[in-house]
Amino acid sequence: MHLDCYCCKTHPLKPTKLDYALPALRCEACQGTYLDLLTYRTWLENNLANIEQEKMAQENTGDKTVAIDALTNSEGALICQRCSKFMLKYRINNEQDNTINVCHTCDDVWLDQGEWELLKLLKIQDKLTQVMGEPWQQELRNQEREQAFKKRYQQLLGEDFEQVEAFATWLHNHPKKSEIQHYLSAFKPIA
Ligand SMILES: [Zn+2]
Ligand SMILES: [Zn+2]
Repeated sequence: MHLDCYCCKTHPLKPTKLDYALPALRCEACQGTYLDLLTYRTWLENNLANIEQEKMAQENTGDKTVAIDALTNSEGALICQRCSKFMLKYRINNEQDNTINVCHTCDDVWLDQGEWELLKLLKIQDKLTQVMGEPWQQELRNQEREQAFKKRYQQLLGEDFEQVEAFATWLHNHPKKSEIQHYLSAFKPIA
């Protein structure tokens, strides 16, 4: 099957092998990677132990085993080179802007340069299918909402924020939380 690069479109993709002989296609110009999800899932089933071992090793060496030389992120929507439809983008996490590009019709994935290494660094190279699932994406949206909420109050309260947060944490864990909340709402300072 001949496929041109999903990103720069001018270069033919060449067969390559990722970790533990995972067959993929790669663009020599932009270093993007094409993954067939059927192949990926089979690879995953056969390499669960290897991947777990690798993650453990990574843990022990403090994430030094995986290095990302260059990380790029294709901004606009990509077009699937097999069926010519737009691919969907799924955020990996809220810290990076990187997304995985997925064509659900063809059941395949496009990763930009360095994104496979990023998945490994985050120890989610075995979770590609989960990343594009609704619970994962919902969780990211929830996190984003919480962070935005916190940031708004940080700005609003300024230097008092730290004290408020410490108090809120203390209150949250207090066995008489609701009594304290009630007292606070009814509290009147002595004139
Ligand atoms: Zn390319
Ligand atoms: Zn497609």
